[in-house]
Amino acid sequence: MTQPHIAVIGAGAMGGWTAWHLQQKGANVTLIDAWGPGHSRASSGGETRLIRGIYGQDRIYVEWSIRALELWKELGKRWQESLYHHTGLLWMFVEDDDYAKLSIPVIEEFGLTVDQLELADAQKQYPQVNFEDVQSVYLEHSAGYLKARHACRVVCEQFQKAGGVYQQLGVDPEFNDRDEIDHLRLSDGSTLTADQYVFACGPWLPKLFPDIIGTGISVSRQEVYYFGTPAGVDLFDTGQFPAWLNYDEPLYYGVPSVDRRGFKICDDSRGPLIDPTHDSRIPSETRIEQARQFLGHRFPLLKDAPLIESRVCQYSNSPDGHLVIDRHPHSENTWIIGGGSGHSFKLGPALGEHVSQCVMGAAEPNAMFSIERLKDTNSSGS
Ligand SMILES: Cc1cc2nc3c(=O)[nH]c(=O)nc-3n(C[C@H](O)[C@H](O)[C@H](O)COP(=O)(O)OP(=O)(O)OC[C@H]3O[C@@H](n4cnc5c(N)ncnc54)[C@H](O)[C@@H]3O)c2cc1C
Repeated sequence: MTQPHIAVIGAGAMGGWTAWHLQQKGANVTLIDAWGPGHSRASSGGETRLIRGIYGQDRIYVEWSIRALELWKELGKRWQESLYHHTGLLWMFVEDDDYAKLSIPVIEEFGLTVDQLELADAQKQYPQVNFEDVQSVYLEHSAGYLKARHACRVVCEQFQKAGGVYQQLGVDPEFNDRDEIDHLRLSDGSTLTADQYVFACGPWLPKLFPDIIGTGISVSRQEVYYFGTPAGVDLFDTGQFPAWLNYDEPLYYGVPSVDRRGFKICDDSRGPLIDPTHDSRIPSETRIEQARQFLGHRFPLLKDAPLIESRVCQYSNSPDGHLVIDRHPHSENTWIIGGGSGHSFKLGPALGEHVSQCVMGAAEPNAMFSIERLKDTNSSGS
């Protein structure tokens, strides 16, 4: 029996894992990316991403996060690549901690453990932190971080080792008069025809499909900073401090210093809109200053820490923060995967598994991830 030929466009966290799973299922897969897996403009670029199970009451993300963690660990071991790093995640709630409280019964059902720490104990355990205005603290034990750019490269290499074909080219879909995809036009002037097409193009989806996505996914500019720790102080390095999340307005989160690159801090509030291809990646002085203020307050030893590296990345925000996993409404053989909304790197292995099942006809996409719900929305970055 001939296997279906499936073209996956986009080798980020979503496309890379989808291509790998499809290849494992025996499909004949071509993975194509304009700039390569985890490149510096992609949403999956950069050093690290958090992986956590606490997800409010969104059960499907808890399930996928747990399945993904299993695969991150198992495949990292099989491929002899360090992808997942166990640090635990320190949740600090400045006000209401419903998000954690609602999650705990769900994640405990799946066998994960979370401890609520007494403030005095937290202070003893983490002298690096000023808990003065914090109301409650939780330690999520199995959480940690993933090597982002590195993982994208490894997944693409493993996909090729398993027989998949990878090409570094730009792709333009060519539609026929019934509005279905007829073939792909590639940037080297060639064309590619496949049985099915999966567009996992992250922040490029609105431009590729203006009629069906348009403003339904807004692409916001997100800044990431690495601050230098004082000489001789290892209190902010991996092994000494967990990944952390400060649940407040704005929400800051970060990763301890990995590979001596500095203490990472990200502001989760949505930045202005960004064009992922053309816009500059220089961080704004105002936002750096805001992050510095927060840093000095929460981690007093870092009060005068210099900014030693920075990145500008982007979130692809759907109106409700949920993913997009659906068939193109006019093109039965075309799938659109995206809407990562700032939380989907971790899900890659589980999401790719699910998408591969949908594409191979063994599962149907969940209505909560439909394209239909993007219609008439005008979500935009702040
Ligand atoms: C600052 C920041 C922090 C984050 N923190 C976390 C976190 O801690 N935990 C977490 O789980 N998630 C986090 N996320 C979110 C997560 O990184 C994204 O949801 C995820 O990486 C999105 O992956 P993607 O594959 O959809 O997109 P991308 O990684 O952008 O991949 C899309 C790919 O498609 C390719 N492409 C697009 N158009 C074309 C075309 N026409 N032809 C060929 N190729 C094309 C691009 O080159 C790109 O490589 C964060 C995101 C950012 C920006």
